[in-house]
Formats: sequence, structure tokens, C-alpha cells
Amino acid sequence: MAGTLYLVPTPIGNLGDISPRMADTMARADFIAAEDTRVSLKLLNHLGLKKSMISYHRHNTEAGGRAVLERLLAGESCALVTDAGTPAISDPGQELVAQCAQQGIDVVAIPGPCALVTALAASGQPTDRFTFEGFLPMNKKNRRAHLDSLKGEERTMVFYEAPHKLNATICDLRDAFGEERPISLCRELSKLHEEVRRTTLGEAARWYEENQPKGEFVLVIRGAEPVEEQEATLEDGLARVEALRAGGASLKDAVKQAARELDLSKNELYDLALGR
Ligand code: SAM
Repeated sequence: MAGTLYLVPTPIGNLGDISPRMADTMARADFIAAEDTRVSLKLLNHLGLKKSMISYHRHNTEAGGRAVLERLLAGESCALVTDAGTPAISDPGQELVAQCAQQGIDVVAIPGPCALVTALAASGQPTDRFTFEGFLPMNKKNRRAHLDSLKGEERTMVFYEAPHKLNATICDLRDAFGEERPISLCRELSKLHEEVRRTTLGEAARWYEENQPKGEFVLVIRGAEPVEEQEATLEDGLARVEALRAGGASLKDAVKQAARELDLSKNELYDLALGR
């Protein structure tokens, strides 16, 4: 019988966030697949564990994935860990989970640290509906197209960004969504210098032009204000009736169609069209 793949989240900055279940899962797994074995070795040492480890990172998903799958199919269990946070969330893991699903191998995701959820919860932005955007494309054209596609997005948007690219990214976000759009910059979550700066994109761009960003950031941006649909007036209806009549429709048909299209009272529109 095949083994199980466990997705084990690891702290995003505070070792106190290691849960007994995470530690237990790593202790019981037959082997660990790690994004960076040197980083994970430190965690294993902290937990007093000695385990067999193999590499599974974004540049070896094919060969690394094959090696993990073979061992799972042979009945071993695997704990997949990344450098920090939840595997498969802007981190290696999604292909492996899909391959396991295809082969009928059980996958168990252990709940735990994730910068996205931690930032969203602390942001003060609406959390009932949100979209996770991860890292923006680096290619200029794709980045602009991606931001254009988000201009009307009404849900809260969550982005990851590296500190050395933060400045440029905030300027691109400001250009796409406007100076006044609220943003929460969630920095160094669960670490000593944890901070949530709630401001606007214009202010944030000005601030980081003069102050070097330090540490890790999640950007949580308020969605666009919903566009209110204007209710049509009888005058709009009359204009539509005239246009339909110019196209050859009878007064009766034109009124009927205009009233239906614009959700107006047929009788009132008819009276207006007759000048009553
Ligand atoms: N899988 C991880 C997770 O579950 O959060 C995310 C990995 S992604 C490669 C790394 C990005 O996550 C960083 O560039 C930053 O945007 C965000 N991040 C990770 N740790 C963070 C922290 N302590 N504070 C703020 N952002 C963090």
C-alpha cells in the first residue's frame, strides 16, 4: 500500500509556532522532502530529529517529484517542507500534490504558518472575499497586463514581494490602482520587528522612495469600490423610444421594448412619449 504525503508548514519567523502535530508528523515520516535541505536541517536539529532528507525545489520538480513518488508508491511516508510557511503556497508542492492525486496517493495538509493568511487577518482590510495574487510577473508586459486585469477587482488583493523589489512594485500598484487606494504593508510577521503599516498606495510609494524597505513583506490592498449601476430615468426611456422609432418601430413596440430594456413603467413611458 502507498504511503502518505504530509504537507508540513514551518514557522515564518518564530520557532514558537511549531505545533506538536507538525513536529510529530516530521518525527514519524520515513523521509523529508525539503526545498533547501540546509534550512530544514536547522529545524530538524532544533526538534532533535535525525531524518533521511531529499531535495524538492522549484528547479527539480520533475526529478525530485519522481524520487518522492517512487518512495511513496513503495509504501514510505513523506513530510514535505519548504524554507518557511506552507508548502504549495508560492512554494514548491503543487505539482507533487497533483501527481499524488493522480496516482491515488493520500495527501494530508497540516494547518500552520502561512504569511498570506497571517497578513490578511492583521491587515484591517475586508477579509470576507479576497484574491491571492502571490508574486507579480517580472516581465514588464505581463506585469502590466496582469495589473490591468485587476483594475476593477472588488475583492481584497494579497501580494507577496521581496524587499529589493518592493519600491518598484508599490509604484506599479499605485499606477494601476491610484494614489488613494488603501494598502496594508505587513512586514516581518511573527518576528522581532513585526509591523503593519496601514496607509495609501501614494503615501507608501513616497515613504519607500526615501526609506529602504527591510525584511519580508505581504501587501494587502483594498479592492476597487463597486461601480453603482445608475437607474435609468423616463428621459432615458424617451431617448430610447425615439431611437427605436427612427429605426422604424411603431410607438407601441418602441415603448414596450424601451421599458423592458431599461426596467421602466410601460404606461408612464407611453404617456410621456404621447406628451401627456
Ligand atoms: N509558502 C510561504 C507561505 O506560506 O507564506 C510563502 C513563501 S514565498 C516564497 C515568500 C514570501 O512570503 C516573501 O517574499 C514574503 O512576501 C512572504 N513572507 C514570508 N514570511 C514572511 C514574514 N514573516 N512576514 C511577511 N511576509 C512574509
